[in-house]
Amino acid sequence: MQKINELQLAKELIKFPSVTKIDAGVIKFLEKKLKKIGFKTKILEFRDKNSYPVKNLYARLGTTSPNFCYAGHLDVVPPGNLNDWTVNPFKPAVKKGYLIGRGANDMKSSIAAFVSAVSFFLSTNKKFNGSISLLITGDEEGDAINGTKKVVEYLKKKKERINFCLVGEPTNPNKLGEMIKIGRRGSLTGNLKIFGSQGHVAYPQRANNPSTIIVKVLKEIKEIKFDKGTKNFQPTNLEVTKININNTADNVIPGIAEATFNIRFNDKHSSNSIKKKLNRIFSKISKKNKSKFKIDYKVSGEAFLTKPNETTFMIQNIIKKITKIKPKLSTTGGTSDLRFIKKISPGLEFGLVGKTMHKVDEAVSLKDLKNLTKIYQNILQNYFK
Ligand SMILES: [Zn+2]
Repeated sequence: MQKINELQLAKELIKFPSVTKIDAGVIKFLEKKLKKIGFKTKILEFRDKNSYPVKNLYARLGTTSPNFCYAGHLDVVPPGNLNDWTVNPFKPAVKKGYLIGRGANDMKSSIAAFVSAVSFFLSTNKKFNGSISLLITGDEEGDAINGTKKVVEYLKKKKERINFCLVGEPTNPNKLGEMIKIGRRGSLTGNLKIFGSQGHVAYPQRANNPSTIIVKVLKEIKEIKFDKGTKNFQPTNLEVTKININNTADNVIPGIAEATFNIRFNDKHSSNSIKKKLNRIFSKISKKNKSKFKIDYKVSGEAFLTKPNETTFMIQNIIKKITKIKPKLSTTGGTSDLRFIKKISPGLEFGLVGKTMHKVDEAVSLKDLKNLTKIYQNILQNYFK
């Protein structure tokens, strides 16, 4: 059995300039690698008129249960100005114990670590009870319309069972071992327009100033006590992100005032229940002030939690054993593909240290890469024991 070196594979993956929308051949490359160590693979290309086409990969080794799945993405964010980098982002280089390149952190190195872990696991466990699978998308950083979401729908239709899913996104804020993610808050953005009526500032009785009204509205929605947080979640929080009153004159009461806000909410709410609550306030204040309002919402994701189970705690223990840190089970941070996968399988996220993700000179410490590979290998060993 061929043993795969994690650093070598990470470098190979980073060499593909797979900036979202462009696959650059990286999915096919990984498919070949997995085939070589015994995986049955399928490239799933999805199209949808609302987005660009995307190649995804589902690979499975074994036919029996339980099926342990690793999920991740091979697309990366654009490198930005190449002159700001100390190396070419797509010609990875090792400097002072760090591998530098776009995707070194988010998250090609983690995929390399898992594939390497599988190859080592197989070299000592030629026969094991169950299956190992990989769900790899090329669209996590972009629209995410033809990515993991569609793969999950496909697997569901095919009645493919996954018993546990490990998502390899960078989860640790500073040190490897600090944090496992078991869910995320939901995110809702609202854009509110208040229509008053324009007039001369010297004759306010003939106008209806929407800026006064929007200040009242924003004060009231900011003061909503949504909840006190839960065992697994921070309290729901609303932040006003923009206030815009487009007025070029100092002696004119404006006709329209506009504001944008974002709410990160926990699993005590849904985007709909929050919308209802807010709409009531907008209606009430508008009515009282004889103004009109228009609200546009955008939901980036609902809150979700994948309940920790036996496997979660086994993984937590392994991380502690190798890193000497007991990882927190957290729901902080932005949204993730686990929101789709949890529809078919319990799971968690654990990967590298996210400090440099999406940054210039994105990097992974070689020591962390080695330890993450060890952690993944130990997880397989224990899962199939
Ligand atoms: Zn990522």
